[in-house]
Amino acid sequence: MFPNLPLYCKWSTVLKEKYGERVQKISLDIGAGCPHRDGLEKGGCIFCDARGGGSGAWLESLGLDEQISRGVRVALYRYHAHKTILYFQSYTSTNLPLPLLRERVHNAIEIAGKRTEVVGLALGTRPDMVPDEFLGFLVDLSDKGYEVWLELGVQTINEEGLNWLNRGHTLSCVEDTLERISSLPISTCAHLMSGIKNESREQLSLSAQWLVERGIAALKFHPLHILRGTRLEQFFLDGSYIPLQLDEYARRVACAIKAIPSSVIIQRLTADARYPWLVAPDWILKKNLVIRQIEMDLVRDDLLGI
Ligand code: SF4
Repeated sequence: MFPNLPLYCKWSTVLKEKYGERVQKISLDIGAGCPHRDGLEKGGCIFCDARGGGSGAWLESLGLDEQISRGVRVALYRYHAHKTILYFQSYTSTNLPLPLLRERVHNAIEIAGKRTEVVGLALGTRPDMVPDEFLGFLVDLSDKGYEVWLELGVQTINEEGLNWLNRGHTLSCVEDTLERISSLPISTCAHLMSGIKNESREQLSLSAQWLVERGIAALKFHPLHILRGTRLEQFFLDGSYIPLQLDEYARRVACAIKAIPSSVIIQRLTADARYPWLVAPDWILKKNLVIRQIEMDLVRDDLLGI
């Protein structure tokens, strides 16, 4: 083993090489809501709580100004980062009418641009909420010189897993979206989960490979975890769902990283979760430990065939 070789293509390293210094991502919640969770019939994904996968800032009535000034403070004073990527993380950003989304994005660029250099934008959405007009907007942003990322919640390529998660879309929908993006100057980061009920131990690797074959540039890995007030919490409480142990999660992520080309950027190895929202598993709170375990597994030779 050559100890100085990187174990995987780290997002922070890629950004540093490209921009010559640290680039800090600022997560924003523009209160976009989600068509899949706003309505009793569909009920939303079983793991999704009221904050829609984000900070909950909008629910706390924190406007863009306040969110950005907090994010910029952290970037400048904690990380000494003067360059930023604005990440429209919560819910489904494309749930907003396009003119309103455009206004909020430009507004955010203007506010953040007064104190940092905004080099990029990342917008999160569902695979069935990527209309061509929205892609046109992303292309416009790219034409203006921004690095543009689409963050796509995929979670798994297994249809049974998608059903169990109540994702409300099929795999063909993911395929169609990736196909439409493939020729555009937009990079896609797909989100994947491990720990879905009844999935095989190899599923995460299979999902990662499938997405890479369809042109995604980056991956984010998350353990399926239980948040308060979700349907998954009910399954956990009635004993019908048991989350993965840390060892098993780390192995599956390490296997997935080994199964894909080393050029694929790994933007995230685990989830951020905090009390009081987290129900289980507790090990998610020890983020550094999780990352260390995955990195240790990456240098093992006996992982494949888990
Ligand atoms: S698509 Fe995203 S925001 Fe909507 S219910 Fe699922 S996880 Fe929540």
